Amino acid sequence: MYPSLSYWERETFFRGIDVAVIGSGIVGLTAAIHLRERSPDLRVVVIERGTLPLGASTRNAGFACFGSISELLDDRLLRSEAEVWALVARRWQGLKRLRERLGDAAIGYEENGGYELFRATEQAVFERCADHIGPFNRELAHIIGRKEVYKLANAQIPATGFQGVTGLLLNSAEGQIHTGRMMHALWRLAHRLGVEMYNGIEVAGLESQSDEILLHTKQGWTLHCQQVLVATNGFARRLLPELDVQPARNQVLITQPIPGLQLKGCFHYDRGYYYFRDVAGRILLGGGRNLAHEEEMTDDFGTTPLIQEALLQLLHELILPGTMVEVDTWWSGILGIGPEKSPIIKRLNNRLSVSVRMGGMGVAIGSLVGEEGAEVVLTGS
Ligand SMILES: Cc1cc2nc3c(=O)[nH]c(=O)nc-3n(C[C@H](O)[C@H](O)[C@H](O)COP(=O)(O)OP(=O)(O)OC[C@H]3O[C@@H](n4cnc5c(N)ncnc54)[C@H](O)[C@@H]3O)c2cc1C
Repeated sequence: MYPSLSYWERETFFRGIDVAVIGSGIVGLTAAIHLRERSPDLRVVVIERGTLPLGASTRNAGFACFGSISELLDDRLLRSEAEVWALVARRWQGLKRLRERLGDAAIGYEENGGYELFRATEQAVFERCADHIGPFNRELAHIIGRKEVYKLANAQIPATGFQGVTGLLLNSAEGQIHTGRMMHALWRLAHRLGVEMYNGIEVAGLESQSDEILLHTKQGWTLHCQQVLVATNGFARRLLPELDVQPARNQVLITQPIPGLQLKGCFHYDRGYYYFRDVAGRILLGGGRNLAHEEEMTDDFGTTPLIQEALLQLLHELILPGTMVEVDTWWSGILGIGPEKSPIIKRLNNRLSVSVRMGGMGVAIGSLVGEEGAEVVLTGS
């Protein structure tokens, strides 16, 4: 049982809110920042159930990526060519916004490239991907203004030390960030701009009325607001069951520091289902949810022996064969995915809007989606 609010708390903190943003991930914080930048007089409150954000934004791998060749080829099976490239352009634009807003030093941005690797059993997929380097580079040149972004990198395989890898493709425009520093910088900026942050409050229900919208919380308290933006991504259906957003868990490990580690950059394997990178002389490795598809469609945090074993096998046999390496820690995070890869940004009624379903590249697109969600709140479209 939580204590009831005092009169002072109820009248000061829980009433008179112009915009409440639910969720303090990259999308919610960016939306709140954008609202204050556009309308400094608005009282903007971010409601977050965790002590820190408790979803994906502080738990991801920090790839500043916009699409590897095999992922884009997969996407083209379900979507038109134009849709696929439009989404790539939005990811690139989102990354640009993130970097402009916070600065590369603050977010630890480094452009070390992104590699996609293939084993001998995946030779046919590798060849299909390699055949698309030319046409994909022509498309990308229009979007990011650089030539020859994707390249064949087989010559670098021996230097990687990877076991059994026979094909390597490079995306030279892919970067990596320090996820913790990025979110900390975003959080500090929100504070500086006068965004109010209420942590440890979980919204349990929304009630739209003619003159306000009420947020009923798990604690039994009610917030009175003029507008609400839901930015809860993988948890969106808990509040709005009609939204087509599925939670998907991703499990991650980070090793202890590895003396003499040469590996630099981001690496994608098996159409993006596995990913790893260097972080301060360690390897961060995650993925494998395709091994237990049903079980991993959950918004419960946790790790499972099946996926842990698969990740450890990849670490010891493919990435660092013959090297003694220990795991420092494991964690999980929750993605929001759906039949469409594009986010849902819309107004549900005259007081309620949503910005959710970031998919696997929310570091890239999240800034844009936060800003667009804020614009929907301000302008209605
Ligand atoms: C393990 C992992 C690795 C990833 N790696 C990458 C990567 O390398 N590159 C990349 O681009 N993307 C990556 N992603 C995806 C990216 O992290 C997400 O797309 C992005 O962080 C989503 O941001 P968000 O703000 O929409 O959601 P979230 O960060 O999930 O934020 C939602 C917030 O809402 C809060 N919340 C939920 N319900 C309520 C409620 N009822 N009341 C109050 N608060 C609530 C949650 O606590 C949470 O803090 C990865 C994701 C995971 C899980």
